[in-house]
This record gives sequence, C-alpha cells and structure tokens, in this order.
Amino acid sequence: MKKHNYSAGPCILPQEVFEKSAEAILNFNNSGLSILEISHRSKDFVAVMDEARALALDLLGLTGKGYQALFLAGGASLEFLMVPYNLMKENGKAAYLDSGTWASAAIKEAKFFGETVVVASSKEQNYNHVPKGYEVPADANYFHCTSNNTIFGTQMKEFPNLDMPIVCDMSSDIFSRVLDFSKFDIIYAGAQKNMGPAGTTLVVIKEEILGKNGKTIPSMLDYAKHIKAESMYNTPPVFPVYASLLTLQWLKKLGGIPAIEKINNAKATLLYTEIDRNPLFKGAAAVEDRSNMNATFLLNDEAHTPIFDALWKEAGISGLPGHRSVGGYRASMYNALPIESVQVLVDVMKDLEKKVS
Ligand code: PMP
Repeated sequence: MKKHNYSAGPCILPQEVFEKSAEAILNFNNSGLSILEISHRSKDFVAVMDEARALALDLLGLTGKGYQALFLAGGASLEFLMVPYNLMKENGKAAYLDSGTWASAAIKEAKFFGETVVVASSKEQNYNHVPKGYEVPADANYFHCTSNNTIFGTQMKEFPNLDMPIVCDMSSDIFSRVLDFSKFDIIYAGAQKNMGPAGTTLVVIKEEILGKNGKTIPSMLDYAKHIKAESMYNTPPVFPVYASLLTLQWLKKLGGIPAIEKINNAKATLLYTEIDRNPLFKGAAAVEDRSNMNATFLLNDEAHTPIFDALWKEAGISGLPGHRSVGGYRASMYNALPIESVQVLVDVMKDLEKKVS
C-alpha cells in the first residue's frame, strides 16, 4: 500500500510520474531502448531537455523575459558557490539573509569569493522566524535569500525590492506558490522536492546579469557556458531531467502554479488549524512565517511520543520525524502530497487526543 509520504526530500512525486518513469526505463518512447541507455545527444533526449527548459520558464511566467533555464548537476549546494563565482566582482561584496541552515551553508561558500555581508540572521533563535527590517548595502553585487527554510519550516512571504540582482534558493518551495518570479535574477532549486528525483538542479537566470564580474570562470562553473551549450555542456543527468519534465507536465495539466497554490494552501490550513486547536501540540515556527511546505510541530508532553509515533505509523504515514536540530515532527507537504494524506495525519492527531485525555 502506498504510504502517506511526508519526507522532506527526496520526497513524494505524482504517481503518474513514477509510472511514466518506470515505462521509460523499460522502453522510452517506444524506441526499444531504455532512457538509461540512450545518448544525451539523441533526438529523443534533446527534445526532453528542450521541453523541460521551456516548460520551467512557462510555469514561472518567465517566457520571453530574457531568462534561461538550466538543468545542472551538483545539487543546490553547488549553486552556493556558482552564484558568487559568477556574480561577485574582484574586491566586491555580496549580501546574504541568514534565515536557516541552508542559507548559512550558502554564506559559508560565498566567503571563499569575497566580502559576504550577513544583513540579518535568526540563528540565535534557531531560525524559528524569518528576519525582517534589514538593510542591504547599496554597493553589494547581489542579494541572496532562501525562500523556504526546509528544516525549521519558515517561509519568506515578502521579498525586498533592490537595485541589484536578487538570487533566491527556492529548493523547497519552487512551483508551489504564485510569486512575481521576474523579481529574481537567479532562482535555483534542487529537483528533489517539488520537481523530480535527486540528481539535477534547476537554475533560472536572467541572462543580462552574466559576464559582468571580469572573472575567468572554470567551464563547469560558468553559467554562460552552460547556457551556450543549451544545458548540455557535459552529459546532463538524463533520467532526473526526464522525471522532472514529467512532473512539470503534470503541474501544467493541473492548471500550473495558481492551481497547486490553492491545494497547498488548503493542505497547510488543514494541518496548522489542527496544530493550533489540539491542546497536545504546538507549532515550532513563528506563526506569521509558517511554511506551507514544511510544517514543524512538537508534542507539549514528550511522554506522549511513543503512542503518537505508533499511531501515525499504523496509519501508513512515513517521514514525519523532525530534523534533529528542531526535534518533534515535520510534515513536508510538497506539491504531490494529496490532501487526503494530510487528513489522515489530522485524524491521527485527533485520535491521540481521545486516547490520552
Ligand atoms: N537549499 C535548501 C533550501 C534545501 O532544502 C537543500 C536540501 N534539502 C539544499 C539547499 C541543498 O540541496 P542539495 O542537497 O541538492 O545540494
């Protein structure tokens, strides 16, 4: 039986993506070949790459606006260094918002390339909220933020308006909510949440910001080289790109980001309403910054842990324990998690209340 998969990533994908991926592994496009054994330069795969790049821009509303989409390897973590390599000038500086563990990992890499100003941080509060009211130095080469803090379960609801390139790590909420994506100059996201399996990273770049830092960049780290090679500078992660395309096609069929946003809002409301109502639980993150993707919550009395854990496991739920740095529970409700799975969790929480009171 299919589990209710709350994994923070790699995570649940639409069932039809699993099925079509399985088919393509056995016989891709009725070619008599597996997608795993064909050349990345074959007509069939070039068509996959082209469609995936175009569809990503289409869903984000960025077609015809000077953006390019790339499907790279190396995870979102490689972008932590590709971004400063491509954008930070000699003796330049970059501005970063430290809103979580992943933001802090990006800051660590930027420091290899030059002055890295942390404009605000919620580290002292274990990243339980998104810092606000910060100033970004006007002479920074770019501003970097993380739209969704996967570990603590906070999400940026507003983004600053700045006269410099804005870079956003959207790994854990890309394609989940309506935003004006044209506000951003680079958006990157590891595929393994809302887009596909692990192994590829979507990087969306406003092309005009490149080539301005006067640096020679090693080829594999140079966005301009990847754009010129149409995301095929070297052998791309063929299968993760294909599975990502299937997910993007699923999202397009569903009605795109506006349609999934409604579903995501309904799922988040259902769960947070129960967290706030049920006297046995409390939310971990600041209410105004709560993430619609990763809901973190705790039991008020840890003595209830064994019985709650037994109940959700019995109900077919998987992947609920929180990250070790937060404790408690984390329900990751990415695009492909059905609202029925959220109802199962809410029912288990109600059941616990009946059993212990
Ligand atoms: N940024 C965010 C917001 C993440 O959640 C993660 C991983 N979960 C990463 C970056 C790192 O991604 P990767 O493992 O693809 O390098």
